[in-house]
Amino acid sequence: MNETGYTEARRTMVESQLRARGIRDPGVLRAMEEIPRHLFVPPDLAKQAYDDRPLDIGAGQTISQPYMVALMSELLAVEPHHRVLEVGTGSGYQAAILAALAREVVTIERFENLARQAAGRLRDAGCGNVRVVVGDGSAGARDYGPFDRIIVTAASPLVPPSLKEQLAAGGRLVCPVGTRHAQKLVVVDHGDGVFEESEGVGCVFVPLLGKEGWSEDD
Ligand code: SAM
Repeated sequence: MNETGYTEARRTMVESQLRARGIRDPGVLRAMEEIPRHLFVPPDLAKQAYDDRPLDIGAGQTISQPYMVALMSELLAVEPHHRVLEVGTGSGYQAAILAALAREVVTIERFENLARQAAGRLRDAGCGNVRVVVGDGSAGARDYGPFDRIIVTAASPLVPPSLKEQLAAGGRLVCPVGTRHAQKLVVVDHGDGVFEESEGVGCVFVPLLGKEGWSEDD
């Protein structure tokens, strides 16, 4: 497929998968129409990058379905002055969308090779406001916090306490919470020491493995 074909595929994805299912945030829709998702997947999967599903990116991990990226980004309600933490860099695509909406994004990934590849893609896509960190993001990224927004793109048995601690007052966190096989998107709002949680749609993510997520043998 040539660049015109990819541009057309992106437009169709935004109309039929996002707008048609109720995504309304203009910033999210614009970012997803502009950012070349096909450059964030392995080259042999580029033609499938705009399909309505997650795709394998190596190391047993996935790039999330476009609708899930849009829904979580919309729920996060990012503003241009925000500092955002993403836990689970994966391909780097969600970080690129957040980079278009926020002042600064810190994204943390436990697999060094995925982090390295994502950093290269983000650089090539001109996302100069993203820092990619290697480590266990279930405990957040304390050296870089606090954050106005935190998004977890892997499934957790509970909202990791360290992430709540690193959420600024007035901040919001979105995290898939549940079993290893099925979760719900949980939104946490931090109102100056008080945390309010609400549960949203069902979803299925790969596990958040680490100190405040699942252990390898769970
Ligand atoms: N946001 C990604 C994207 O746009 O491609 C998709 C993320 S993928 C569904 C989940 C990612 O979380 C995987 O790359 C996985 O290695 C990572 N992960 C799992 N546990 C983690 C942890 N404790 N800290 C950091 N990353 C973790």
